[in-house]
Amino acid sequence: MIKLQNIQKVYRTDTIETLALNGINLDVAKGEFLSIMGPSGCGKSTLLNIMGLLDEPSKGNISIAEQPTGKFNDKQLAKFRNQKLGFIFQSYHLIGDLQVIDNVELPLLYRDTTAKERRRLATEALEKVGLSNRIKHFPKQLSGGQRQRVAIARAIVGNPEIILADEPTGNLDSAMGNEIMEILLQLNRVDGTTIVMVTHDENMAQKTHRLVRLFDGSQVQ
Ligand code: ADP
Ligand code: ADP
Repeated sequence: MIKLQNIQKVYRTDTIETLALNGINLDVAKGEFLSIMGPSGCGKSTLLNIMGLLDEPSKGNISIAEQPTGKFNDKQLAKFRNQKLGFIFQSYHLIGDLQVIDNVELPLLYRDTTAKERRRLATEALEKVGLSNRIKHFPKQLSGGQRQRVAIARAIVGNPEIILADEPTGNLDSAMGNEIMEILLQLNRVDGTTIVMVTHDENMAQKTHRLVRLFDGSQVQ
């Protein structure tokens, strides 16, 4: 589902060069739930951003859902990302002055979906994460775990084949973190969604199919 070949990423400024990824080769199978661990600064976020086509590698090739992505222009890239990928972040990234339901509808605004259909799909996504009783709330009226569930609903509303999650439980206590993890496991098991998750939490990583460890931009396991 995701194929990375010899991915290298160098960040350059006037004075500093940082080799953030040094020749990563990785295949993520359809339906797999993969976790990525490693110390701070080892390249986890960079790798996830490259898989999510949010950032370009300095060298190497990426295919997603059998599609080589190297020749996409910006518009094609945005469309492909919108259709194939869902993103979840540690700090939720919800829009504070939009109600829950409108936050969840956001990814559908870039598609030919009617307002009525958007509402139906967003309501369905919120039901899946157990939040259909909070659709008119604003993010600040929700607990951290509830905010992350809204973010998951937004990630899945467009029915993506892949979810990329950057420390989705990083800001949550262990009870809420476990709830979020259960939702992700269910999306993987029931809907067959391929998931790649960066985490600092060994317990969370143990629940996934496979763990990849990074150290200093290289894969160590
Ligand atoms: P992790 O997510 O594992 O903490 P990152 O992928 O954020 O690691 O960073 C990997 C390395 O790349 C670090 O050394 C970091 O300082 C560097 N880095 C990340 N983003 C940038 C950037 N925009 N410009 C320059 N260096 C960066
Ligand atoms: P938790 O115990 O999960 O941290 P809280 O005690 O903060 O949750 O809130 C309990 C419930 O009340 C939550 O489900 C949340 O949706 C709702 N709530 C919290 N703050 C507000 C608010 N300012 N306005 C409306 N509803 C709120």
